[in-house]
Amino acid sequence: MDILNSTIAQLREMLKKKEISSVELTRYYLDRIGKYNGEILAYLRTTDDYAMKMAREADEKIARGEDAPLLGVPLGMKDILCTKGIETTCASSILKGFVPPYDATVIRKLKEAGFVHLGRLNMDEFAMGSSTENSAFQTTANPWDTSRIPGGSSGGSAAAVASGLCVSALGTDTGGSIRQPASLCGVIGMKPTYGRVSRYGLIAFASSLDQIGPFSRTVSDCATMLGVIAGHDPLDSTSIPEPVPDYHSFLGRDIKGLKVGIPGEYFVEGMEEDVRKNYEENLQALKDQGAELVDVSLPHTRHAVATYYIICTAEASSNLARYDGVKYGLREEGKDIIDMYKKTRFKGFGKEVKRRIILGTYVLSSGYYDAYYRKAGKVRTLIRRDFDDAFASCDLIVTPVSPTTAFKVGERLEDPLTMYLSDIFTIPVNLAGLPGISIPGGFDSRGLPIGLQIIGKPLDEGRMLQAAHVFESVKKVPTIPERLMG
Ligand code: GLN
Repeated sequence: MDILNSTIAQLREMLKKKEISSVELTRYYLDRIGKYNGEILAYLRTTDDYAMKMAREADEKIARGEDAPLLGVPLGMKDILCTKGIETTCASSILKGFVPPYDATVIRKLKEAGFVHLGRLNMDEFAMGSSTENSAFQTTANPWDTSRIPGGSSGGSAAAVASGLCVSALGTDTGGSIRQPASLCGVIGMKPTYGRVSRYGLIAFASSLDQIGPFSRTVSDCATMLGVIAGHDPLDSTSIPEPVPDYHSFLGRDIKGLKVGIPGEYFVEGMEEDVRKNYEENLQALKDQGAELVDVSLPHTRHAVATYYIICTAEASSNLARYDGVKYGLREEGKDIIDMYKKTRFKGFGKEVKRRIILGTYVLSSGYYDAYYRKAGKVRTLIRRDFDDAFASCDLIVTPVSPTTAFKVGERLEDPLTMYLSDIFTIPVNLAGLPGISIPGGFDSRGLPIGLQIIGKPLDEGRMLQAAHVFESVKKVPTIPERLMG
């Protein structure tokens, strides 16, 4: 029985046929985490007792003949998703000890689908970063080269899936935080359309951009996970009231005649030669499968990073105002209430979070609001219109995910601007509210993974999965390093 290389569907088959129990499967993953997490540092904490309880319940249900898409399947969760009774820190000292009294909608849906909660995955503090180096607790290693970062902010989720420490995981993506780490760790990561997945219970960073999505090693698992977590939720006012299609029904269809847009603006300076070469090879692979490549233009791309850093910092400064020592996590005593707020926030937030709160407070301050936040909103509209225009002549847009492969730990820490540029190809997708997926596209000359990004029209995740599935079956890129196969 090859658990490590099994898909969710295969694990479900084994469970159904009673070849393995959910308790055994959960033990298998907890043992693997015990063996490798010291090196990879993907998990902040495992939730062994909780996992075992869920696994036992799943086994009872299986014994009763019940069925559900994830019944008995162990998964990892980014530590940003509120989970009732389970410490949820957002990798921040300010939320240390915070135990949510309710489940995020995605957690509720996963529970209804029968999953087993293995543990909490590392991330950049409050999802601000591209390397997981901003975690208050630990820096996750890239499973392909542990001297390098796994990407971020969902670096723990990507590294856990790439090292077989779970079959699938959830992450969140505000400007690239699912797709960039998926690309750098060589696994699949999807950011659904804004509004496709409920954000209720997701600890907010930038509410107009945040979306939850899955990590997996196969397109089929991505389809399964998306099918479970997607759907309208009255608890999130931005959630879209549209039915969820059967995403599996898109897999196995060919892509003959599919129009794939190639934006000229994405051939940027600073893109590594290996990344460019791999991108071109992958476009050829799509063409060989019958896709028609068409040139498209996204002229406002060059303003995307600046626009994003105004919008996300403004929204973050407002969202993070609630951490003041009164209701959540850390509290530092002071001589009066203002002093208590100051001491708590000074001690509780890390450097990058403080940088963004200060920037965001500035761009929202009176006299500057029109010059920055309102203007950024207008540029955002222009970026969205670029995509509308491009999609008039194509079905999907295909781009690189990140201009470089995984960089060394520490390399960009003192240089926030270079760090911010890691997301140059992913940020426009969030600004436009579109779905995007990163799929393994190959490796650079050092053996580091390179991802390919497929961007879809709103709610067109099915077609993205269709193209990703065709690509996956012709490229057959390995997703777990040989060294971690044991
Ligand atoms: N790296 C980007 C940032 O630092 C995106 C983060 C995210 O998507 N959460 O904001």
